[in-house]
Amino acid sequence: MSKFNELPISDEIIRAVSEMGYEEATPIQASAIPAILEGHDVLGLSNTGTGKTAAFGIPAIEMINDYRKHPKVMIICPTRELVEQVATELRKFSKYKEGIKIAPIYGGQPIDRQIQLLKRGCAIVVGTPGRIMDHLRRRTLRLTECDMVILDEADEMLNMGFKEDIEEILKSLPEDKHPQTILFSATMPNEIMKITKKFQVDPVKVQIKSSQRTIDTVDQYYYEVPRGKKLNALRVLLNHYDPDLCMIFCNTKRMVDELCEELNHCGIRSVGLHGDMKQAARDRVMYQFRERKCSILIATDVAARGIDVDDIALVVNFDIPQDHEYYIHRVGRTGRAGKKGKAITLLSAKRQLKELKEIMYDTKTKIVKRMLPTSEQLEALNRKNFINEVLTACNEGINEDSMEIANDLLAEGIAVENLISALISMNYKNEIIDIEDKDAIRRYSESFDAIRLHLSIGKNCNIKTGNVVAAIIEECGINAQALGRIDIRSNFTLVDVDAAKVDIVLEKMQGAQIRGHQIEVQIDEAPKRKSDASGYNKKGGKRNKRSDYSAKKNRGTKDKKEHRRKESTKTKRKK
Ligand code: ADP
Ligand code: MG
Repeated sequence: MSKFNELPISDEIIRAVSEMGYEEATPIQASAIPAILEGHDVLGLSNTGTGKTAAFGIPAIEMINDYRKHPKVMIICPTRELVEQVATELRKFSKYKEGIKIAPIYGGQPIDRQIQLLKRGCAIVVGTPGRIMDHLRRRTLRLTECDMVILDEADEMLNMGFKEDIEEILKSLPEDKHPQTILFSATMPNEIMKITKKFQVDPVKVQIKSSQRTIDTVDQYYYEVPRGKKLNALRVLLNHYDPDLCMIFCNTKRMVDELCEELNHCGIRSVGLHGDMKQAARDRVMYQFRERKCSILIATDVAARGIDVDDIALVVNFDIPQDHEYYIHRVGRTGRAGKKGKAITLLSAKRQLKELKEIMYDTKTKIVKRMLPTSEQLEALNRKNFINEVLTACNEGINEDSMEIANDLLAEGIAVENLISALISMNYKNEIIDIEDKDAIRRYSESFDAIRLHLSIGKNCNIKTGNVVAAIIEECGINAQALGRIDIRSNFTLVDVDAAKVDIVLEKMQGAQIRGHQIEVQIDEAPKRKSDASGYNKKGGKRNKRSDYSAKKNRGTKDKKEHRRKESTKTKRKK
């Protein structure tokens, strides 16, 4: 570790980072910042959470002396969240540097507004690959002045299917002067090597070995949960494990809020923490958790960074972590200081088991399957808990008021067993939380209810599966898991989309571009499907729910489309 003022950076930035609470540079920052400032191409490898944003963000800001209109630095990130995050961090670093404008551009946001932003000029553009391509094609973004290009989370972008977009962007950089090319990644797959060879000149490799975190001291289990029963399963498991302090991880801010509300609604007190909360609210939540005023904390991965509370007895992955590294981060919060910890992961679809197996492989840990209790076991548990409560109350001694009432009751000449039995039925709630998989068709083993969409381009436009996935994820901000089979035909493409996400995909993809080709999207009208992801067709005589749904949807699809188009031109005009 070294101090920021020992690095060759300006006072303005030193002041800004110290206000942000950074005291020392992290290893990747200490190595990468000088290398980038010296003008080298840099290949930076380090895990999530090691401070890569500042490692490239600080030198990127230092680079900028004067700029007119076109950006000097371009940063490419895989998702809109990361674009926002990086732009926000960069604004903080540049707080005391005057007039450095940063323009975030990403899919899913009206393009006109971004065009205005770019027209006004910016020093640094931060964007997702698809949107950057879009602006380059429209010539609303020009890279003639670009001296530095940074790929953040390069491995992630390749995984998401952005390879061609990235290559095309890198190719469109001015040829005469090689812009400084910087690539950050958590892993180093072959594809990254190829990009490096092709686009970097004598790169300096900066690699930080992750400190060996072990999660050997944690007992890890997973549970397969029937569809729609995750909340109930969590209630049952919290009851079963009865942890002193518990952290529950969700993948999105919205899920944190929802789960927190639902648990509290069921009488399980919990507090939530995520990035959208103001500092004061976060402090309040952390105080309640640390002081054990509330023993359950629900958080996103990002919000949980930097939280250091020992003695967490149970970690729950309510959502399976998107990043395998996150699994270690999450689970590593329990089982500290030689104590035994427990971690459980809830799976709500078959395909998640595959992901979990990959996590086991990557993190070299064993996660053991456990069965959710049956209703008989739950009933037995309820009974045991009730008896324990009564025994505890008995041990706590006799209360005078209640003794008086007891005597009055006995004076009525009722048998003691009858009295006890009456009191029990008044007090004992044998509530069985429903976690059973009753709907045999909607088995856990089947995947989501898919609706098939028809996109207006296919092989004729030379698109590949990866391009379709990447475009939809970027435009709609949804998870790749919401997409099922993708079938690219000669002049159209069929995509199975989780029914829950189909509306957003219809809305956002209408008129969007995939690799520069504008597309039309609608629900596939074909009457029968050969293989149905939801499995409804498997039982010959069963009602086909999907067709019902799509029939309902199709009624008036045309009208809706027309309406949507009008709406979107209206909003475009407004801007
Ligand atoms: P990465 O991109 O490697 O995953 P980030 O740049 O997002 O990591 O940083 C992770 C967290 O650590 C952020 O909350 C960031 O503000 C914080 N951080 C980064 N560098 C430092 C530092 N030198 N000192 C203290 N906190 C830091
Ligand atoms: Mg990062």
